[in-house]
Amino acid sequence: TSVGVPRESVAGERRVALVPGVVERLCAQGLEVRVEPGAGQAALIPDDAFTKAGAHLGDPWSADVVVKVNPPSAAEIGKLPRGSTLIGFLAPLTDPDLAPRLRAAGVAGFALESVPRISRAQSMDALSSQANVAGYRAVLLAASECTRFFPMLTTAAGTVKPASVLVLGVGVAGLQALATAKRLGARTTGYDVRPEVADQVRSVGAKWLDLGVSAVGEGGYARELTEDERAEQAQRLSAAISGFDVVITTALVPGRPAPRLVPAEAVRRMRPGSVIVDLAGAAGGNCELSEPDRTTVDHEVTIAAPLNLPATMPEHASELYARNVQALLELMLVDGRLAPDFTDEVLAAACITRSEPGEGHLSPS
Ligand code: NAD
Repeated sequence: TSVGVPRESVAGERRVALVPGVVERLCAQGLEVRVEPGAGQAALIPDDAFTKAGAHLGDPWSADVVVKVNPPSAAEIGKLPRGSTLIGFLAPLTDPDLAPRLRAAGVAGFALESVPRISRAQSMDALSSQANVAGYRAVLLAASECTRFFPMLTTAAGTVKPASVLVLGVGVAGLQALATAKRLGARTTGYDVRPEVADQVRSVGAKWLDLGVSAVGEGGYARELTEDERAEQAQRLSAAISGFDVVITTALVPGRPAPRLVPAEAVRRMRPGSVIVDLAGAAGGNCELSEPDRTTVDHEVTIAAPLNLPATMPEHASELYARNVQALLELMLVDGRLAPDFTDEVLAAACITRSEPGEGHLSPS
């Protein structure tokens, strides 16, 4: 079985789907790994690190399995042979056209976003591994944009108060943001609509902001709020926000526009020099004033809405992502051959399309 690793084509992307350490493990299991020359360059992984790990340099698209970070472009789909398998972020909820296009091309697609959030599948949870990077990086971005210190400083020239950081939406990214801000010495507070998050917030030394609105949906995710709940939340949040130096927002509801948690008037009541980092930009943003992929200033408050923070830490982001891909791929292998068991709940959920009968080794029997 051959595995192809293309160079990512999306602008600004610096990650690569496999790293040499993972290539070595796959080769030890009898797989042949084909890496596109320069695939790891932006992640600072030279071609010869891949070849030393046992990979060949060459055309990744003719492999049995192609592993990617970003969803394929139309041109890339055109390069995938019928009967092949694609593993990567495939945006199943936000780009529902991709599955039918892969099906028409005779390609089986496994979306890392669709891996269920269950204990057994934690090693394949790329949403979590990349959200950890984003949450960490969001705090560093906020700290560098903020005109004030994060830690309390006691110096001969006087004492500086610690910054107060509010994290809205405490999933994986939010929890990492709270922990990172705490390590930098800030006073931290977290808020989420899932009440079970309160204990996790406290476990990283943060206060829990209780607004009395709870909205638990399916699969451990939040649901969208009703009109009434939204109004209640907005009013209470808006009052709380102005007291913080930094607000980091990560609130998402799968497949839906991001909830609007920070209205313009709340931003305008923040102290000059404060910072908002909005990690929900790709889903429209949690802050009314966010401009996805841009950093703007409104009433002396900096609002950053970066779209791909994991790509700004390509070494570790790729390393973690590669382990997620490896774990999913290994679940699909029997004696080194691709033979996914679709009765397995993880594979059944991750598979967004199967190749048609008679088109290769992934045909349903
Ligand atoms: P996510 O990226 O979908 O959303 C981020 C956070 O925003 C979530 O905590 C969500 O509750 C919150 N949110 C949504 N709407 C909101 C609103 N209106 N106001 C405030 N907050 C709002 O979440 P995620 O990081 O992908 O995590 C999703 C779930 O999966 C969590 O329960 C997480 O703990 C769980 N998880 C489980 C495992 C596992 O057991 N294997 C691994 C990772 C994550």
